[in-house]
Amino acid sequence: MGDNHETKLLDGKAMALQIKDEIANEVRAMTSAGRRAPHLAAVIVGEDGASMTYVASKEKSSHEVGFTSSVYRMSEQTTERQLLETIDFLNNDPDIDGFIVQLPLPKHIDEQKVINAIAPDKDVDGFTPVNVGRMVLGEECFVPATPMGICTLLKRYGIETAGKHCVVLGRSNIVGTPVANLLSRKGFDCTVTMCHSRTQNLKELCLQADILVVAIGKPEFVTADMVKPGAVVVDVGIHRVPDATKKTGYRIIGDVKHDEVDQKCSWVTPVPGGVGPLTIVSLLQNTLAAYHRHTGR
Ligand code: NAP
Repeated sequence: MGDNHETKLLDGKAMALQIKDEIANEVRAMTSAGRRAPHLAAVIVGEDGASMTYVASKEKSSHEVGFTSSVYRMSEQTTERQLLETIDFLNNDPDIDGFIVQLPLPKHIDEQKVINAIAPDKDVDGFTPVNVGRMVLGEECFVPATPMGICTLLKRYGIETAGKHCVVLGRSNIVGTPVANLLSRKGFDCTVTMCHSRTQNLKELCLQADILVVAIGKPEFVTADMVKPGAVVVDVGIHRVPDATKKTGYRIIGDVKHDEVDQKCSWVTPVPGGVGPLTIVSLLQNTLAAYHRHTGR
């Protein structure tokens, strides 16, 4: 894998703009031909700050590409039954192509029960057991947005993956497990090692990685001594840390210590502006696919 003197950025921000442009052009062509726009809905329960930010940016991106967007804001006290009724309504509304239920949900609601209630053909987050099963079988499905975004970045940048050793740090249902599955499949053809909190010799495994995907949820966990020279490093982590020099009072950092790791690798995703923007774009791509399936065109 390439020369490590010049590290190149896997620029998710620029790629997201480009893909949004492609989607917007397609939507414009369809609506000028008299068709309705794709419709993405989101359900948010409670007022968790990060969740509200995520939903707001999903809504903004939907508008940018010409989608119809609706947000169902429900109070923290919403019962499981009320939420399930809302999901039933969305499942049956023919004008909605896809919807997401923003996680985490308040503690008194069974998250898996709620996910299981989402109609698989509207599950644009790809979290239902049906879509997860289809993904593992390599069937047509909705792939969860973050792993899909990582795959899009690697593919569109032409990163060589066949036969490469990919080490994935993390085994969550929304990132680590699906990304490990997707990169091991035909098309990417990586040899994948998936690590978690019980993994032994983590550093030695990381040092063997041609492609290191870090989704561990610990700020700046991966340091330069864990990275093989010339590796491709994908940092999924998002953490807010106080920073008095910023207008917002905080800055965003990842799971990788970029000031030292970036010198060592061939390609790296910046934080912010790497995986994050591609995550939202993947949700839009899934919604567009749902729309085509629903409208049969
Ligand atoms: P998560 O559910 O907390 O999972 C973290 C994983 O890392 C777990 O599998 C855990 O192992 C493993 N882990 C924790 N400490 C470890 C250690 N010391 N050594 C080895 N493995 C360890 O996190 P997630 O939802 O996958 O998210 C990961 C990060 O990505 C977070 O920072 C999150 O904010 C970010 N994220 C970003 C996006 C985006 O759009 N960019 C989307 C989703 C998430 P166990 O399974 O053994 O506990």
